[in-house]
Amino acid sequence: MAEAMVPSSMFTEVRAMFLMLTPTEASFQKVEDVPRYVQQATPVFVGLMLLELVVGLLKTGTSVVTISDGLTSLSAGMISRLPHLLMRGCELTAYMYVWDHYRLVELPWDSAWTWWFTLVGVDFCYYWVHRFAHEVAILWAAHQVHHSSEYYNLTTALRQSLTQQFTSWIFYLPLALALPPSIFAVHIQINLLYQFWIHTELIRDLGPLEWIFNTPKHHRVHHGRNPYCLDKNYGGILIIWDRLFGTFAPETDKVIYGLVFPINTFEIVSVQLHYYLDLWERSNTYKTISDKLSTFIKSPSWKPGKPRLGDHVDKPGVTGEEVRLDSSWSLPLQVYVVIHFLLVLWTYHDLFENKMILSQLAILGLIGYILLTLTSLGFIIDQRPMAAVLEMLRCVVMVTMQRYSYMKPPSLSLAVPTEAFVSLSLLYWAVQSFSQLLGIKKKAD
Ligand SMILES: [Zn+2]
Ligand SMILES: [Zn+2]
Repeated sequence: MAEAMVPSSMFTEVRAMFLMLTPTEASFQKVEDVPRYVQQATPVFVGLMLLELVVGLLKTGTSVVTISDGLTSLSAGMISRLPHLLMRGCELTAYMYVWDHYRLVELPWDSAWTWWFTLVGVDFCYYWVHRFAHEVAILWAAHQVHHSSEYYNLTTALRQSLTQQFTSWIFYLPLALALPPSIFAVHIQINLLYQFWIHTELIRDLGPLEWIFNTPKHHRVHHGRNPYCLDKNYGGILIIWDRLFGTFAPETDKVIYGLVFPINTFEIVSVQLHYYLDLWERSNTYKTISDKLSTFIKSPSWKPGKPRLGDHVDKPGVTGEEVRLDSSWSLPLQVYVVIHFLLVLWTYHDLFENKMILSQLAILGLIGYILLTLTSLGFIIDQRPMAAVLEMLRCVVMVTMQRYSYMKPPSLSLAVPTEAFVSLSLLYWAVQSFSQLLGIKKKAD
């Protein structure tokens, strides 16, 4: 079937996203031959996000996305893929190990039956990955990142966890007893791509498709914090799993998005990791080993004396009047953050393009720079007191990287303006830090 493969194009990624690839064009003998559909879909993600913005503006007169929330979601998406610079995905590595050592049968890689069976098999396993991610607190600590936005738009789809990938692989291993890794490598990507476009409020109802497929309507419920939405609609591509296993809920009341207890921050390290600390602190308030352990392995809403999944009466309801978190920051600061975000996005893109020719040390250094930048921009959006000093230090790192050519501008003609902008940024934050310091000294006097 690989012989009949059409060259990968943007159109291929769009079709992969809408389940329109055929076994003939997307079956491969070797894992190495499988296209990186997700990575190549970046222009499609950007195009659809812009389309959603324009259609949303025309339809409702307001923007479906805010800069603070949208950038936080995109930052989470970037962070979640950084481990791929250092290693092959955990899911595929573990899968190949089980296939190599323990497979029971070897279904033919070039059969359409194998291809369709893998599509359904991966989606079935995804249902359980997702359900466990909600019902086991230590797994929820990773997955809550995806639910932490109080908005629901295509940027929310990219708000992914850094740590979830280190546990989700376990759930796919039974498939490795019979289904070839190369076909699994195709479907693990198709499953992820499909789930991008369902994160929108603009598509209201898809008629008879709602019976079988996970749709924007069903997934909106999954992101809701209304009591009727909690722990419902776990499906990836198919909603039939929820209908079969009793976790389906139709969309009825207006959905209020986000976590039951909102995190109230746009700072990316807190978004990714805060819940691990919360769990640790909560477990320390319990006396018995059994209660301490239960904090991690039972549901996030479990309390001593309550059932494994917690008690619905303990969960706060919604009023419909909830005010979503936004930053009250000036327009020039918004422009500043957007420009620096685009610059780090370019460095991120450049790093993935050139990872084969860079040393491990250079890759680690650039990962550190990306994390520092996203954290610092989060500090600015949150308007934290430390923002000025952190951003000043980050600008020093940027100037140094420019000097040693570790940071290239998107085009040669942008080299001088970029350098000037970074130098001015450094100057601005140095003045801000200095005046802050003077303010503190005056207060102390
Ligand atoms: Zn979820
Ligand atoms: Zn989602």
